[in-house]
Amino acid sequence: MGAGSPDASGGRDIRDVAVVGAGLSGCLMAVLLARRGYRVRVFERRPDPRLGAGDEGRSINLGLSQRGINALRHAGLLDRVLAHAAPMRGRVVHLPDGDLGYHPYGTSDDQILRSVLRHDLNVVLLDAAESAGVALRFDARLADLDKADGAVTLRFEDGAVVEAGTVIGADGAFSTVRARMQRGEPADYHQEFLPWGYKELSIAAGAPGDRRADPESLHVWPADGGLVVAHPNADRSLTGTIFLPLTGPGGFDALRTPDAVRAMITARFPDLTGLVPDVVEQFLSQPTGHLVTVRTAPWHWRGRVVLLGDACHAVYPFYGQGMNSAFEDCVILDGCLDRNAADHAAAFAEYQAIRKADTDVLADLSAANFVELRDRLSSPLFLARKKADLA
Ligand code: FAD
Repeated sequence: MGAGSPDASGGRDIRDVAVVGAGLSGCLMAVLLARRGYRVRVFERRPDPRLGAGDEGRSINLGLSQRGINALRHAGLLDRVLAHAAPMRGRVVHLPDGDLGYHPYGTSDDQILRSVLRHDLNVVLLDAAESAGVALRFDARLADLDKADGAVTLRFEDGAVVEAGTVIGADGAFSTVRARMQRGEPADYHQEFLPWGYKELSIAAGAPGDRRADPESLHVWPADGGLVVAHPNADRSLTGTIFLPLTGPGGFDALRTPDAVRAMITARFPDLTGLVPDVVEQFLSQPTGHLVTVRTAPWHWRGRVVLLGDACHAVYPFYGQGMNSAFEDCVILDGCLDRNAADHAAAFAEYQAIRKADTDVLADLSAANFVELRDRLSSPLFLARKKADLA
């Protein structure tokens, strides 16, 4: 069955695929589909990140764990990604009085986490997709989707209209594909915003041997009413994310002047001022990001449309598994297509059946770990125990 030729039901070839979203899962899925001989076109609302456009304000680096590593290995891309990654061998906890705690993740290289810039990862995936024969279109924002049994029509904001046999919605937590796919259908949709937001902070490389900026660890600053998490980069700098309540005293809304920001950092994250001399300027110039959990069903429509990654299961980032599970989706869906090559409806139903229970648990774990990081790591009991461990 060649791309563009009718399928058994007389419609458009189901192997003529439009992927919406050239983020992490969209690109990886495009690679896997192209390798199966599908015709794959990817549509992305942003400009091509390889041409220098940044990803300002969006978690600049990400922790890659075993699930994501396995998926990249499955696609033959692991070495290319690891060439840009920094190892995270353990977690350094920055206690409020300036002491440090350390929890190793494991003893061998297959037990550690890796940290990689979202931009570098995206570029590796885009290059791999292009080499596999995928057609990439940037500055193409999907505005609407018309479902029909024989084909799906995609309408873009610039007026372009495209037909495809299959549409993959990899367009993130606020997915247009999901909204249009579920329109008029019996569907569950639950979206929950965390009353906390985040900003990114760049932390320059520390002096060699300085554990406070150890370039092979994940760093956590627990505090009363706040949290900073930082991942290392391959150039030994760190990228931090400061999480705070959105509103209330000490929340982002109240932190609009240099004096207010300085006072908050000094009180809650005292050793951060030494590590990030321009922390106040960075804080005031960075946008505030929001965090959302999405649970939904169904994830697919009549073998013509299917969702991947955050589009069907966005989770809070506190368990560090959103991208990893989005990558895992791609491998599971690839396996379902293998077993049901001529029947996408069966493949997509099997994919949802395998994945949904796991991603629901992930949403719960991610919410629970927020409470753990926020409350337990900064609790007086934990701090006293930590001090005893260190003594
Ligand atoms: P995305 O990567 O968001 O890609 C969606 C793409 O779709 C984007 O390129 C977007 O521009 C495009 N798009 C959206 N709408 C349209 C449209 N209408 N038309 C065309 N294109 C469109 N996960 C981890 O595993 N480890 C971590 O350490 C980690 N840290 C995180 C830290 C923070 C602060 C946050 C917010 C998230 C973190 N995550 C982490 C989660 C991770 O970022 C996501 O789970 C992951 O990016 C999901 O991939 P995706 O492909 O589903 O969506």
